[in-house]
Amino acid sequence: MMKNEVYDLLIIGSGPAGLGAAVYAVRAGLKAAVVDKSPVSGGQVLSTYEVDNYLGLPGLSGGELSERFREHADRLGVQFIIAEVQGIGSNEEQRTYTVRTDQADLEAGAVILATGASHSPLGVPGETELSGMGVSYCATCDGAFYRKRTVAVVGGGDVAVEDAVFLAGICSKVYLIHRRDQLRAADSLQKKLFSLANVEVLWDSEVKEILGRDMVEGIRVCNNKSGEENRLDVEGVFIAVGIVPDTGVFSGLVEMDDKGYVLADESCATSEKGIFAAGDIRKKAMRQIITAVADGANAVHSAQAYLNAEKM
Ligand code: NAP
Repeated sequence: MMKNEVYDLLIIGSGPAGLGAAVYAVRAGLKAAVVDKSPVSGGQVLSTYEVDNYLGLPGLSGGELSERFREHADRLGVQFIIAEVQGIGSNEEQRTYTVRTDQADLEAGAVILATGASHSPLGVPGETELSGMGVSYCATCDGAFYRKRTVAVVGGGDVAVEDAVFLAGICSKVYLIHRRDQLRAADSLQKKLFSLANVEVLWDSEVKEILGRDMVEGIRVCNNKSGEENRLDVEGVFIAVGIVPDTGVFSGLVEMDDKGYVLADESCATSEKGIFAAGDIRKKAMRQIITAVADGANAVHSAQAYLNAEKM
């Protein structure tokens, strides 16, 4: 990274949205760079066991798909800067933005925010204390530790069902614990789930406490219709109850909803001219890899139009 270099565009985050944006930016002839605190690109996709709905590349693991994305960006000569972004300020006179990082300050005419999202905690007693000691948020990372054991997955979305399917191939028994009587996961995932003999779904059920001294030994589960409470002996608890956007560092910069998602339509333009939001951090209906990549392309299109207008 050269000192005092002014980029046309800085892209923060190297998940599908950030890498999609990077490919479009380089091909548009923009002087662009991707800033990410991790040298490994992919974001949440990295912890996905199998991605079967990305057009043209069915059946790859999340890691393999991320590698393909990164290789594509590398082949086009995308510049990557490994640094943690700490904030963004605007320079009214030069009409540029300063992206402050733990390594250096970077300057650009426009910025795309593509920092994605992280897992939500469940918020029950025992969760924090036993995190890493049986409580996990990533089945593909930690599943192998539970070979031939009994585990529970909490949640009813795509991630919970994918995790349960993945763990069923490793563990002797998997409980899927969902607070309602219907899953919100895609039908294709549900079909796979219901075909597995060692998965038991506990409907209308909530985990009230994770039990164990040094390691997880069980969970206290309550049926929210009957009020009946049971202890289940499990050695692992995989929590998959949704995501929270990683936008804390941008608060006050752009308008967000009460959950921290950035308000921006399909153009990806935020309330701040010159700042664009792409991928899971944007308030939108469908958070998929393919929609994140599409956001990346749209954000570059909008950023380029903005930069051209600024030059006039
Ligand atoms: P999600 O779709 O928001 O699902 C979260 C699940 O957790 C819901 O079933 C929800 O229950 C439950 N939940 C939330 N808070 C809870 C609490 N306090 N206690 C108990 N249960 C709770 O989140 P996700 O599964 O992490 O997926 C995130 C996004 O990524 C989604 O848009 C998803 O479609 C996408 N994704 C897609 C794929 C794919 O296409 N292959 C794979 C992974 C993720 P309710 O149903 O009752 O609200």
